[in-house]
Amino acid sequence: MAESIPPLEFRKVSRRYRSGSSPAVADVDLAVAPGEILALIGGSGSGKTTLLRLAAGLESPDGGEVRLDGVLVAGGGIARELPPEQRQVGLVFQEGALFPHLTAAANVAYGLRGRQRAAVRERVEECLALVALPGYGDRYPHELSGGERQRIALARALAPAPRLLLLDEPFSHLDPALRWRLREEIRDILAGLGQTALLVTHDPEDVFAMAERVAILEQGALRQVGPVLSVYRNPVSRYCAESLGPANRVLDPAGGKERWRRPEDFRLPADGSPQAAGEARVEAVRETGARIELRLAPDAGAGDEPWHVHWPDTAGRPVPSPGDRISVAWRA
Ligand code: ADP
Ligand code: MG
Repeated sequence: MAESIPPLEFRKVSRRYRSGSSPAVADVDLAVAPGEILALIGGSGSGKTTLLRLAAGLESPDGGEVRLDGVLVAGGGIARELPPEQRQVGLVFQEGALFPHLTAAANVAYGLRGRQRAAVRERVEECLALVALPGYGDRYPHELSGGERQRIALARALAPAPRLLLLDEPFSHLDPALRWRLREEIRDILAGLGQTALLVTHDPEDVFAMAERVAILEQGALRQVGPVLSVYRNPVSRYCAESLGPANRVLDPAGGKERWRRPEDFRLPADGSPQAAGEARVEAVRETGARIELRLAPDAGAGDEPWHVHWPDTAGRPVPSPGDRISVAWRA
C-alpha cells in the first residue's frame, strides 16, 4: 500500500531572522498526516508562530524544505516559492483577525473571491451553519462576542475548503468556560470534515481536547513528537513533561536516573502498585473542589525536589497530615 502523502511536511526546516542570532526554528522535521489534528506546543518564543508562518508562506525558510501534499513549495533550492494565496491553507489567529469594516458574511466570503455570486452566497450560508451561527451574516465583528468572532474566523478559514488549517492560539483570549466549550465544538467540526489541522498553543488543555498527536518545540527545535497520551506519560525531559502539565521528578534508587511522574500517578504501595518508590514527608495538604493535593518532601535518593500529588480517593485511608511520613509508589 502506498504511504499516505502528508498535507504538510517540514524537512530540516530552519529560519533565522537576523544573521548571528540563534535561529527561531532549527532543523525541524515534522509531517502532518491527512485528517489529523496535530498540536504544536512550546513556551513563548519557542518558534511556534514562525513554523506556522513558514507553512502558510508568510515566511521563507533559510534551509530545508516545506512541502504541501508532497509538492515542494519553499526551500530546497526552488526558483519561486508558492505564494500564500496559492497554498490552499486556511489561517485562524488569536484574536481580532476579522476585517472590522466587513460583515460576518463578507468576512467568510473573503477567501471565495472570484467565484460566482450565487455560489459564494451558498457557501457562506453553509459555513455559517457549520459554525452554528446561521443568521449572523449581517453582523459586524464588534457586534459579536469573542467566541462568536473566533467561530466566524474559523468559517472564513474553512470556506475555500483548504487542504490544511493552521490555528495560532485561537482560544488564548477567551475566558476559561468559553474555551472549554469552543475547543470541543471546533474539534467536532474539524473531525466531522476530516480537516487536517496544525494547532499552535501553549495550553495543554487545548492539546488534550483537540489533538491526536503533539509536537513539542523548545528554542526552535522539536524535542518530542508522538500521540498525546504517550508523550504525557513518557516525556523525554523536564521541558517536555511540563509542557503538558505538572510533573514530579522521581529518581531511580539504583543509579539515580530521572523519571517524570504525574500528580495523579501517585499511589500508596498497598494499593496493589508493585514497588514503593520511596518514603516522603508530607509538607502540606490542600483540598481543592475536585481533589486533595499533597506536597511531599521525598527522602534523599528518591527525589531532590518537592512532589505534588493527588491523594487517590480509592486509598480508603485517612488523609495524612503535615509532618506525617508516608510510603510512595507510582502507577506503573
Ligand atoms: P512563539 O510563537 O512560539 O511565541 P515566534 O515564532 O513568534 O515564537 O518567535 C520565535 C523567535 O523568533 C523569538 O525569539 C522571536 O523573538 C523571534 N522573532 C519572531 N518574529 C520575528 C521577526 N519578525 N523578526 C525578528 N525576530 C522575530
Ligand atoms: Mg506565537
